[in-house]
Amino acid sequence: MGENPNDMDHLYEECGVFGIWGPNRDVARLTAFGLRALQHRGQESAGIAVGNGETVLVRKDLGLVDSVFTDADLAAMRGKVAIGHVRYGTAGAKSWESAQPHLSTIGTTIIALAHNGTLVNTDELRRELIERNVFFRSNTDSEVAAQLVGYFTTQMHHLREGIRCAMRMIDGGYAIVLLRENALYAFRDPNGIRPLVLGLLGHDDYVVASETCALDMVGAKYLRDIAPGEIVRISDDGLISEKGVKPRQQARCIFEDVYFSRPDSYVDGSSIYSMRYEMGRQLAREAPVAADMVFGVPDSGLPPAEGYAHELGLPYGEGLIKNRYIARTFIQPTQELRQLGVHLKLNALRDNVAGKRLVMVDDSIVRGTTSKQIVKMLREAEAKEIHVRIAAPEVKWPCFYGIDTGTQDQLISARYSEEQVCKYIGADSLHFLSVKGLVHACPKGGYCTACFTGDYPVSIPDDFSSERFLTGYRPHNLTKPPRGARMQIADFVHEYHEEDNA
Ligand code: SF4
Repeated sequence: MGENPNDMDHLYEECGVFGIWGPNRDVARLTAFGLRALQHRGQESAGIAVGNGETVLVRKDLGLVDSVFTDADLAAMRGKVAIGHVRYGTAGAKSWESAQPHLSTIGTTIIALAHNGTLVNTDELRRELIERNVFFRSNTDSEVAAQLVGYFTTQMHHLREGIRCAMRMIDGGYAIVLLRENALYAFRDPNGIRPLVLGLLGHDDYVVASETCALDMVGAKYLRDIAPGEIVRISDDGLISEKGVKPRQQARCIFEDVYFSRPDSYVDGSSIYSMRYEMGRQLAREAPVAADMVFGVPDSGLPPAEGYAHELGLPYGEGLIKNRYIARTFIQPTQELRQLGVHLKLNALRDNVAGKRLVMVDDSIVRGTTSKQIVKMLREAEAKEIHVRIAAPEVKWPCFYGIDTGTQDQLISARYSEEQVCKYIGADSLHFLSVKGLVHACPKGGYCTACFTGDYPVSIPDDFSSERFLTGYRPHNLTKPPRGARMQIADFVHEYHEEDNA
């Protein structure tokens, strides 16, 4: 097994989105607050667009929210409606052009769009749009979505119709916020893969966000999740909800519950913290072990570690201390930093671990390099036994819906058995939570579990996926492309008008 301690050894969310309708509020500043609450979803770039009733202003750059926006920037962005975005990007280069919100024009109207997720069929849509003289500034799928909305809006003479048509053409996982000078739109993919929630601020202002922790940050009250396939429009006319596309079988990303979302967020009314705690209890039932102390790998390993300890009546404590002030953007791949590896982020609490039989609970193992370094660190701190328990099943399949898993050969569990992985990381024992156990801990149902099972809820074009799988792995249960998704744009417009006239 190859080893590069600086390999990205976690799955990374590609983005967080935020939107606010508040004509008498400091919408840019509130958006910056909301983005701070979502910073864990993306640290490469941040951006805010504001609609002031006449035009749209945007500021975006590479870096963390606090480094991109000064007080003066926010004070200069007065308006009634705003959207914001934090990005961890893989679909497209890490450049200013790839930072969002993405600005484009439809005739004389400026729109700004911010997107969380990945669209799987943008290559062909981009080709078709280029043939129709649409000019692209970046190679992101979000720009394809924005240009598609623009193209259809021009054809239909109505922005909401443009959004609806675009939703019928694009495939994948997406939660999108979009604004023009005097309105906010939010829409979500028909499987509900990526999260998007709606909140009420005061009496008649509204907030939409990737997670409820961003609503809490600005003092908004959670109303509900945006439904799969729904379009919400908020303007001086109030909130209007309508069906953008027909919802399909619900397939919420279960990794949001395992790792991506903040523990103080809620999904469809269920607490992320409680679900993670329950994952730990379930794991304890499936893989108990005698031990002197249970601890979690900060931060997302903490709630399942508590649940594990509680279920078995074992002492719960701290085994690792996290250095909270290392931003990912700071960690450049130099040789010196590579050697420091996980020590940059974590340190063993020697007094708590020396001479003890330990259970270490973590949320997932992706490449295995981090777990291996932590186990080594604990051995150096004279732990007696180290039993690793993972509060999720083995990650064996790449994600195509907004999470950066890279190619399948980078996933250690796609290539090696649980026993082999245990040997590689140097633990005394290793167990992963079963898929059944995970689903049991997440009571709502209707999940995407494809990175564990290969059961992809949205079909993936061959040219998009073929290089991502190891020999011998072919995803099963691919659904047929939905009607319209592979249709030429011109045919689509024609058929859409015919349906309207029927
Ligand atoms: S494949 Fe995994 S990470 Fe991707 S959407 Fe599905 S559950 Fe989430």
